[in-house]
Amino acid sequence: MKKKIAILGSTGSIGKSTLDVIRKDKNNFDIILLTANNNYKRLIKQAREFKAKNVQIKNNKFYIKVKNSLKKNKTRVFSGETPLNRIVKCKLDYTMSAIVGLAGLQPTIDALKISKSLAIANKEAIICGWEILSRLVKKYKTEILPVDSEHFSIKELTKNVSNEEIEEIIITASGGPFLNYSSKKMKKVKPKNAIKHPNWKMGKKISVDSANLMNKFFEVIEAYKLFKFDKVKYRLVIHPQSYVHSIIKFKNGITKMILYNTDMKIPIFNTIYKKDKKYLYSYKTDVKILNRINFQKVNPKKFPSIKLISKCAKLGSSTPIIINAANEELVKAFLKGKIAFLDIVKLINKILSDKDLNQYAKRKIKTIKDIKIIDKWARLKTMDMCVI
Ligand code: NAD
Ligand code: MG
Repeated sequence: MKKKIAILGSTGSIGKSTLDVIRKDKNNFDIILLTANNNYKRLIKQAREFKAKNVQIKNNKFYIKVKNSLKKNKTRVFSGETPLNRIVKCKLDYTMSAIVGLAGLQPTIDALKISKSLAIANKEAIICGWEILSRLVKKYKTEILPVDSEHFSIKELTKNVSNEEIEEIIITASGGPFLNYSSKKMKKVKPKNAIKHPNWKMGKKISVDSANLMNKFFEVIEAYKLFKFDKVKYRLVIHPQSYVHSIIKFKNGITKMILYNTDMKIPIFNTIYKKDKKYLYSYKTDVKILNRINFQKVNPKKFPSIKLISKCAKLGSSTPIIINAANEELVKAFLKGKIAFLDIVKLINKILSDKDLNQYAKRKIKTIKDIKIIDKWARLKTMDMCVI
């Protein structure tokens, strides 16, 4: 039986890597749905190559172009507003949620309801919408597969492990392109420097998040949501080579870590095949790489973003939604050259001291509407602050 799959955000970095994995084994997959926002040219190409049953282009400006280009193919084309359950009528074996930002939450919720396994790279959906997603997981019995390399690794290392057995959970951070920059030099960095990650090839937003370590703030919150372990057990450590993804220290004296190349195809491959006898690639360990790996403490003066983790704990449980919204807007402003790199974290902190914060940060999440109210407030505040 062919695996029925969907990729939300197929034209992005994770989406492309997912298709790279599938390309080698095309005959065993039925691509039920591919979605994209603006990159209609790549979406058309992917639809043709993978004989996708359906594609959805979010930006309606490109709908007609996609529709006309795929006229001779069997692919059905949908515009942005069409809900997923109107496009996909069958149960999917696997969906990859790889849209960037909170925009991915609704499609992820919709996909959860019709998928046996849901691989989630879209960390913003987890951070902001876990209350909703986790409720639906129980109802629909969907298996959630974390794709973010650190979370994929924590899951691998803690199968059948209880909270009591664990002493410490270390999430590694590469430190990004500015790890060895002075604070003075960091003031002047340009978007083109910030999106040049030393180890990973990723979308622009996550690249900026990696450069100021906001990505690590998000990843700690993501881990809090995904796993049932005590929050005090998490620690961040800089590991510039990004070869070790997470380390678990157990109370029996044993420490385990997961090491693999900086290639997202590895966690993706393993979420697709799990126990199937398929192999991605194989070669002997390069001892030189092992000899080069090192670790260092995170300097909070240089990367004040990590202080947001403890700050968040003192504010309401919906604070991550506010930080996420502000950060999405601030990253956009930085990429457009409207604010400086260091302003991103400074302005997030400013929002967190706003007089109206409490009523939003403490708001309980029952439906996606609650998230949207908090998200909207934070985005408007952010735009006011930096007059984007
Ligand atoms: P990207 O910018 O390369 O791709 C984003 C994809 O989402 C594109 O296909 C785009 O068309 C689509 N998209 C964007 N806005 C949309 C909208 N409003 N509606 C529908 N589709 C939309 O991003 P990426 O690097 O692939 O990251 C995707 C997600 O995975 C992010 O949440 C990121 O944090 C996470 N992630 C990425 C990596 C990585 O190596 N790239 C690693 C870990 C986690
Ligand atoms: Mg990660």
